[in-house]
Amino acid sequence: MTGKTHVIGGIAACMAVSQVTDHEPVLLLAAGVFGALLPDICHGGSKLGRKVPALSRLINGVFGHRTFTHSLLFLLLIRAAFSFVHWPAEISEGILVGIGSHLILDAATKNGIKLFYPINLTVRFPVTVRTGGSAESGILAVLVVCIVYFGRGIIQL
Ligand SMILES: [Zn+2]
Repeated sequence: MTGKTHVIGGIAACMAVSQVTDHEPVLLLAAGVFGALLPDICHGGSKLGRKVPALSRLINGVFGHRTFTHSLLFLLLIRAAFSFVHWPAEISEGILVGIGSHLILDAATKNGIKLFYPINLTVRFPVTVRTGGSAESGILAVLVVCIVYFGRGIIQL
């Protein structure tokens, strides 16, 4: 999926989570956007990869694209790292939800993801879309509808 779809997906996922928690929504959403972009740091042309090209090249050189940073192992290591930092729970939760949304969206692409890295098994949904294709625009539209739906509770505050 494109960076734009991941950003919208991260926002939609965090807005859904904000419905069932008492987390501060703005902080949760900001962290969610970062988390939604984080896995593609392995791609030099991604939104985050362009910000830190040296780190992006290093990660891509060691792991390749859509492997380690698109796995449960990555998600669990990030979660473990959060136990060493002292910041609001919204940040940790938002980043993890954002990463989760990224993995789900990329699993809906033809290339899939290496969810169980280092096991070389490609995981994808039975129905997939081409990154940047018209079907992705449809997914983007559905995510925007989700944001509007979940956002009405936040806006009424
Ligand atoms: Zn990705």
